[in-house]
Amino acid sequence: MNIMERQTEKNIRKKITNQNTCLTPEQYHILKEKGTEAPFTGKFLHHKKTGTYICADCQTELFSSNTKFDSGTGWPSFSDAQNKEHIELKPDHKYGMNRIEVLCKKCGGHLGHLFNDGPTPTGLRYCINSASLDFKEKKKTS
Ligand SMILES: [Zn+2]
Repeated sequence: MNIMERQTEKNIRKKITNQNTCLTPEQYHILKEKGTEAPFTGKFLHHKKTGTYICADCQTELFSSNTKFDSGTGWPSFSDAQNKEHIELKPDHKYGMNRIEVLCKKCGGHLGHLFNDGPTPTGLRYCINSASLDFKEKKKTS
C-alpha cells in the first residue's frame, strides 16, 4: 500500500467513526453496532499481563487484570469492573434472551454482556469482546 492509499483508507475510517479514533472495522462493528467477535479469536483471551483494560475507543479504564479469569467461553472474562462508574449496564432482550449488556459509560460503546455464573467472591462474569478493549500495562516500579 502506498502513502496515498494509506491516507485514503485513514480518511474513510475517520468518516465511518466520525471521530478521531483509529478503530478497525471489526472494532467499529462490535463497539458501535453491538457485534460479537467469534469465540476463541480475541487478542486478549489468553492475555496474562498485569495492568488495566481500557475502552478501545475512548480509553476509559474498565477492567483490571486482577479480575480476569479463564471462563472457557472463548471471550475474555472478568469477575468485576475496575470502576463501576465507568460502565453502564442495560437489559438486553435481543434474540429472546434475557441478558445484561455492558457498555462503556463515556462513549456508549458496546463491550459485551454480564452473567451471574462467575467465580466467587462476586459471582459475576463480565464477558467482554477483545475488540472492545485496549490494554495499558502496569509498569514495574523499581
Ligand atoms: Zn469508551
